[in-house]
Amino acid sequence: MSPFKKPPQNRPAINPLSRRQLLGASATGAATIAGAGALLAASPAPAAPRAADRSRRRLGPPGSSGVRLRWLGNNGWEIRFGDPDKPTTLLIDPWITRFHTGTYTPRGADPATPITVDTDLIDSLQLRADQILVTHGHYDHLPDIPHIAASTGATVLGTETHANLLTALGAPQDQLSVVHGGELLQFDGYTIQVIPSLHSMTGPRKKVPFPGTRPGTPPPRPRVISELVEGGTLAYLVTIGDRLSILDHGAANYDARQLTGLAPDVLLLQPGGASVPDYVPHLMDVLDHPPYVIPTHWDDFDYPLTDPARDWGGLTALEQAVRAASPTTRFIRLDHLESFTP
Ligand SMILES: [Zn+2]
Repeated sequence: MSPFKKPPQNRPAINPLSRRQLLGASATGAATIAGAGALLAASPAPAAPRAADRSRRRLGPPGSSGVRLRWLGNNGWEIRFGDPDKPTTLLIDPWITRFHTGTYTPRGADPATPITVDTDLIDSLQLRADQILVTHGHYDHLPDIPHIAASTGATVLGTETHANLLTALGAPQDQLSVVHGGELLQFDGYTIQVIPSLHSMTGPRKKVPFPGTRPGTPPPRPRVISELVEGGTLAYLVTIGDRLSILDHGAANYDARQLTGLAPDVLLLQPGGASVPDYVPHLMDVLDHPPYVIPTHWDDFDYPLTDPARDWGGLTALEQAVRAASPTTRFIRLDHLESFTP
């Protein structure tokens, strides 16, 4: 069965009203939708539009946002905006090195694969960063961050486990900021909202690959990929002024309760999600049908970033699911190192 096919009778409870409808609902209407919770229950007057709602309404034609997204392969993203001479740059999960693990072969990733970092390759991209956002601790997200943090001076956001793994890999400790999910951080002209999220669960027992946490004292330096444990998964909503908001989960799963009320302009979306009922349509409903979906984490990273991206097999189904669930959404497919300005 297609992972996106609706299972009969067990569709999770979804708020039947879109967020726009919710925000415009009258007090009478609000009283009938008890599931809407505190947003409306506490206030008899129509709720005021939130920042995300305003930003979506102001979203202009493609190319007008002044925000450039560049795909660094896997779940790596560069978000750049502001003064062209002194832009602000955020990186999500930048992993440039990419070594052979067999992740997308029938045997799966070899847990004993050594962790390597190609500093020459990373440096050739001349990355800049003000913040680096870590979604989780796995080998296809974390290993290059110590070098990138050291060379850019960026602040790195992640859980205690991510910070401990990064410390063990040699990251500058004073640049690491431990977050839990729930933070809303104000920067100059933009915010970063840290959102509790979930990792994808695979196989017949539905298990997180390389699970676990490393709280407290940092562990010994990880040498092989199985030592880079998940350490919790975070999503991030980056909102740039009133121009644009971007959401990335880092893995093919999400906690819908944490997403209610968000209306990102751009959703960076992973293929897969076979363990999540209605993975794509539920997400599109909860997020009120983002104007843009850009696929992420869809390339086989056994092949280098300097090659064109090779679909590991989930991209077509993802695009079909997005188009079916959200016909007004633009599905923007980028190749390695390509950029897009919404
Ligand atoms: Zn992962």
